[in-house]
Amino acid sequence: MLAEMGVGPVWTARHASAPGVDARVDQLAGGEVDSIAGPAHAAVATAEVAAGSVAGFAAEVATDYATVAVSRQASPAGLDWAALQQAVAGCTACGLCSTRKNTVFGVGDRKASWLFVGEGPGRQEDLQGEPFVGPAGQLLDNMLKALGLQRGGNAYIANIVKCRPAAADGRDRPPSEEEIAACLPFLERQVELLQPTVIVALGKVAAVSLLGLPADTPVGSLRGTLHSYRDRPLVVTYHPAYLLRQPADKAKAWRDLCMALTAHAAAG
Ligand code: SF4
Repeated sequence: MLAEMGVGPVWTARHASAPGVDARVDQLAGGEVDSIAGPAHAAVATAEVAAGSVAGFAAEVATDYATVAVSRQASPAGLDWAALQQAVAGCTACGLCSTRKNTVFGVGDRKASWLFVGEGPGRQEDLQGEPFVGPAGQLLDNMLKALGLQRGGNAYIANIVKCRPAAADGRDRPPSEEEIAACLPFLERQVELLQPTVIVALGKVAAVSLLGLPADTPVGSLRGTLHSYRDRPLVVTYHPAYLLRQPADKAKAWRDLCMALTAHAAAG
């Protein structure tokens, strides 16, 4: 699939290939390397087999495999919905791939004029592979209802990162700047495919990531202003999980949604 998209790592052979090496490599690597690093492991194998250093060879194969796994970053430019979802499902562009149960691609109406963007999957989202489940998801569903929307009904919901960021103690944590940078191209392609009329950024991480602002920008300073993301109106409001902790701010969130409604009507 990556070859057909014209993307993937660029391989430079360190040594000439030798007949029969591939079978040896597959035996040592349990066959796992072949699908990703075919030309490279053949090149590595030549030198090591010639030297008779099976242990050193196996270690080098493992090192090369790990390097490929963490550095593979397929450009999503030009992908359709199905190919994009497949690319996300197989993505190893940042370290979050090593702890995820599921990638969380996004959910909703792929012709929606409303796009809601959150931060990243939490524990339940990671388990179920869907964004905004649990109490925060129920509150978001109610916010959608207040706008006359629903999941699958003129609304699409996605996150800045597609895999769950988990802290060492197992709790959810915000994604790092590196993780956001690695994952943002997927959301950018979702926006290109969706062509939403209005984007609602749910919380600080979504807002600063989409607007290219410093990570410590307070969300309160971004509310109440109509922003623009690639020539589309973008409204910033609180993340539903925050509103569950601070229900007094729901009135402010409603004001933000009213601003989004006005922007939608003006642009639509
Ligand atoms: S968070 Fe995004 S960039 Fe990182 S592994 Fe998951 S899909 Fe890839």
